[in-house]
Order: sequence, then C-alpha cells, then structure tokens
Amino acid sequence: MKIVDAKVVVTSPGRNFVTLKLTTDDGLTGLGDATLNGRELAVVSYLTDHVAPLLLGLDPHRIEDTWQYLYRGAYWRRGPVTMAATAAVDVALWDIKAKAAGLPLYQLLGGASRDRVRTYGHANGRDIPELLDSVRAQLDEGYQAVRIQSGVPGLKAVYGVHSTDDSGSAVLHQQARPLVEDWDTDAYLRHIPAVFDAVRSEFGAELPLLHDAHHRLTPVQAGRLGKDLEPYRPFWLEDCTPAENQEALRLVRADTTTPLAIGEVFNTVYDYQTLITEQLIDYVRSAVTHFGGVTPLRKLFDFAAQYQIKSAIHGPEDISPVGMAAAVHLDLAVHNFGIQEYSGHTALTNEVFRHAYTFTDGHLHPGEAPGIGVELDEEMAAAHPYEAAYLPVNRLQDGTVHDW
Ligand SMILES: [Mg+2]
Repeated sequence: MKIVDAKVVVTSPGRNFVTLKLTTDDGLTGLGDATLNGRELAVVSYLTDHVAPLLLGLDPHRIEDTWQYLYRGAYWRRGPVTMAATAAVDVALWDIKAKAAGLPLYQLLGGASRDRVRTYGHANGRDIPELLDSVRAQLDEGYQAVRIQSGVPGLKAVYGVHSTDDSGSAVLHQQARPLVEDWDTDAYLRHIPAVFDAVRSEFGAELPLLHDAHHRLTPVQAGRLGKDLEPYRPFWLEDCTPAENQEALRLVRADTTTPLAIGEVFNTVYDYQTLITEQLIDYVRSAVTHFGGVTPLRKLFDFAAQYQIKSAIHGPEDISPVGMAAAVHLDLAVHNFGIQEYSGHTALTNEVFRHAYTFTDGHLHPGEAPGIGVELDEEMAAAHPYEAAYLPVNRLQDGTVHDW
C-alpha cells in the first residue's frame, strides 16, 4: 500500500480546525488533527510545503518509521508547529492501519482496559452564585467531575470565565486581535478558597473538583494555594506555574499534597523528564494533537506509569473531533488512564466532523467503527472557511504582560 495524496483542510465551523487527510492507492483514507489555536496557518504551511511531498509513495503501515523520519529528519526538533504537524501524520496513519485491519484503533493499542472513559466538564461563573448554577448545569449534562473557574472580585475578565459583551451575551475568546484579560494574583489567591468552600457546601464532599491556575503563579504562590485548598480535597490543581521550569515543581510539591497536573503546552517527553522521574506531578496533560500523535503519547503514558502518574489528555474545544477521537481510543486502551477533559463541540462542528465516539453519563466511548471513527464532510468544511483568530493575552493591572 502507498500514500498517493496528502491534503490539508482548514475549516471554521465556529472556530478554526486544521485537518490532514491522507489517501492510499487502495482508496483508504486517514485523518489527523493539526489544530494549533491562534497559529493555525503555520502548521498548514509546515504540512503542505514541507511534509506532504515527503509522504507521497510511503507505505502507510510504517507508522513508527514515518514518525522518526519526520522527527529526526527535519533536524529542527520539537516545538508546537512541528509536533502538531507530526501528530496529524501519525494519527492519519493509525486511522488507515486500523481501517485496513477492520478494527477500531483502540484494539490495535492493546484493546480496552476499561468499559468507558471518565471525563470532566467545565463550570464557570463571573461570581460564585453563577458558578454554582454552572456546576449544576454540568451535572445535569451528566458530568461526574467538574473543573471550577470563577471570576475574581475587581477583575474584569479572567481565564476560563466567558466574557460578556454589552448585551450580556457570551462572546467567544477568539477575536481578530487578542482579547486582553486582566490579572491580580493576590486577589485570585484570596478568592479561590472561598470558591471551593461554596462549591463543596453546595454539592458535597464526593464530587471530584478540578481547578486550573493557567501558569500564573510562582512556586511559592502555587504551594500556598495548594495548601489552602487541601481541606477541600481537589482532584487536582492544574498548570500552577509556567511549566517550562520543571525544577519549580520541587518547591510546590514540598509545600502541598494537593495533586498536580501539568503538560498541555508540552510537545515531547523531554519536557517531562524531571517532573516524572522525581514524581513531582500526578497527571500528564498532553494532547495527542500537540505531542506528535498517538505513537509518542503512548510512550509517555508508559513512562509515567512506572512512577504511578496517570494520563489526563488535554481536551479543549480547539482540539477537533479528529484529535478527540484519537484521545478517546488511547484513553480506553492505556492502563494508567486518569481522566479525560471534554467539553464537547458545537452541533455544526459535529456535522462537519461526524464521529463514532459517544458521551453518556459523563463518560466517553470511542465506538466500534474501524479506524478512529471520524468522517470529514469536505463540502461543509469548505462552506466555513478560516477566520483569523487569537487566544487572549493577559496583563496585570499596571499594564505588565503576564502569563495567560
Ligand atoms: Mg488547562
């Protein structure tokens, strides 16, 4: 079998998605997600101009060899653009291999290690009463674990909390220029324990609660927050410090027993070496889409398993249903699965990307369709072309740029 076509499809059914479609001389097709939110077209060029010409004529069954060829062969390793492009190729090849075998991908990864995949949803509110309503809505949707994010008194726009326009309706974070949010770490640290207290009081001790600090704290601040939240037994504190500095987590770990999750911006296992071998975290958060695909992420999970660290694949709405499907197959197969982030996609996105995975009672299942189980409607995709969009940026109240 040979690859005879490699096509990149960019579509924006509400937000931008980049998809690689490989076709073989047998007529099999494979899809891979290459969406890098806010920098989408850089990956399109990387794939179209530099990778697609190399794929033509290759045997699609040689997944490991192709991965190494792209990773080592570029000379310039790592980085989000390279690894998103490589991920798309890797997932498309797994899709083809599983279709050729007539099996859902998880069967090629060792088969199911569990019956279903636990997810967590996103609850948020500009204040605590609005957050409590949002948690209730998540539970009504079936979620059995919830990430809670709250507005902070005195701040206008905070990560994870939908902004509102003058009419009061929610507006997407994606804009033609980055939305500017504001930040005050001290105000945040004073407020969050009260948020957990209110949610625990309302919903009890058993509901798994997660919280994302979005890389905004110093190690000492993160340690203090972890300690302050210990009475409320969070499922985890996510991205407590800027994750590039792995050694910083030694300080956080020394201060708190609150479980720690990190890694959604990581691209390779080298970003995790200290974190894993010193057991400084409890969950690895990388996405199939940004980590080079199923092949390296499976290796990361196996590495993490030696240190009792679990998986928790990044699953925001800007991971396309193609990337989400690949994640759910991996979630079902690996033994050290922890939890899967999942907030679903819009109905329009689910029409462009028809998928076999299902969401029931807060759990996902990848379905039994051969491959990853996603079909791309290219006509519908073409009807919703790319729109320039950025993630927000963040400034302190004196105007200093801070981590978003
Ligand atoms: Mg996060």
